[in-house]
Amino acid sequence: MEVNLISDTVTQPSERMLAAMQAAPVGDDVFKEDPTVNALEEEVADLFGMEKALFFPSGTMANQTAIKAHTRPGDQLICDHYSHVYHYEGGGVSFNSGVSCKLLAGDRGRITAAQVAEAINPPDFYHSPQTRLVSLENTTNKGGGACYDFKNIQEIKALCEQHQLSLHLDGARLWNALEATSATPKDYGRVFDTISVCFSKGLGCPVGSMLIGDLATMSAALRIRKVLGGGMRQVGYLAAAARYALQHHRKELNEDHKKAKELEQLLLQLPYVENVEPVSTNIIIFAVQSSIDEMAFITALEAKGIRIIQLGKGKLRIVTHRDYTATQHSYFMRILKELKF
Ligand SMILES: *Cc1c(COP(=O)(O)O)cnc(C)c1O
Repeated sequence: MEVNLISDTVTQPSERMLAAMQAAPVGDDVFKEDPTVNALEEEVADLFGMEKALFFPSGTMANQTAIKAHTRPGDQLICDHYSHVYHYEGGGVSFNSGVSCKLLAGDRGRITAAQVAEAINPPDFYHSPQTRLVSLENTTNKGGGACYDFKNIQEIKALCEQHQLSLHLDGARLWNALEATSATPKDYGRVFDTISVCFSKGLGCPVGSMLIGDLATMSAALRIRKVLGGGMRQVGYLAAAARYALQHHRKELNEDHKKAKELEQLLLQLPYVENVEPVSTNIIIFAVQSSIDEMAFITALEAKGIRIIQLGKGKLRIVTHRDYTATQHSYFMRILKELKF
C-alpha cells in the first residue's frame, strides 16, 4: 500500500471535482471576464464579510502581494520565527518588497501582543526600520498545525490599531483552524486587513489561493499580482475546483483532524517515540528516541510504502489529508505498532 503523508498538498482532484471543473463557464480573467472566478471571489469575500477577494496561483504569491501592498522598501514586518513568509517563500519579503522581518520566538508559531509591543520600533527613531506590518499564521505550519486563541489575535489587533500597523493573516490552513475552533470567518474578516487562504491544502484542489481585503488594498493587490506574473486567463477551471471544495470538502476536514488525533494518541504510547507535540488539526510533529537514527526510521516506513518527512532538528512530520483513507489509516497504525527499534 502507498501512503503519502508528507503534506496535505499531495491530494488528487476527485472525479466530481474534475467534472465541476470541466463544466465551468470560463472567460479571460485578466479582463475580469471569467464568470467562475468572479463568482468564487464574491463568495469568498462574502464568507469573510470583506470587500474584495482575488484569486492567486499560490499562497506564496498571495502572501507576497499582501506584504508588498502594506509596506514600502526599508520597512519592517513582525512575524514569528517559524513563519512561512520568512522561511519558505524564497526570501520574497526582501526580493519583492525590500522589507526586513523582525522575528519573534513564539509558542509553536504563535506570537502574543506583548511580544509584538516590544518589537515595534519607535516611529520617530529614524535609525531603525519603520515597523509597518504584523503577519500572523493560522494554523501554523512549522508550529505543527497549532491554532491561535482568537482572544490573542484581538489583542494583537488592538495594538496594531494603536500603532497604525497593518495586520495580515497567512491563512493557508485557516480552514483547519476554523474547523478546530469556534471563531467564524467573519470574526477573522473584522480583525485582519488582509487574509490569504489556500484551496490546494486540506481542501483537495490542484491549484489555487485567494487574498481578501478592502477595496483600496485589493486594487493595489491586483496591480502587484500582474507585476508578479499572476494574471491568468481562463482560470475559471481552477476556480471551479475551489468552489466545489468549499461546498463539499470543507465540511469533511474534521475527518483529517480525527485521524491526526488518533495517530497522536498512538504515538504517545509507542516506546520508540520520545515526544509528540499536541495535535489540534491535521499536522503531527514528533520525535523518536535520540538513540534511534531518524533516517533509519523514515526508511523503515518507506519500506512499508509510507512516506513522512523530516523537519530538521530531530522533528518528524505527518500530515493527514482527504486522500488518506480509512484503510490507509488502519494500515499505518498497524505498522507503527509493529515497528521495533
Ligand atoms: C503552504 C503554505 C503557504 C503557501 O504555499 P504555496 O505552496 O505557495 O501555495 C503559505 N503559508 C503557509 C503557512 C503554508 O503552509
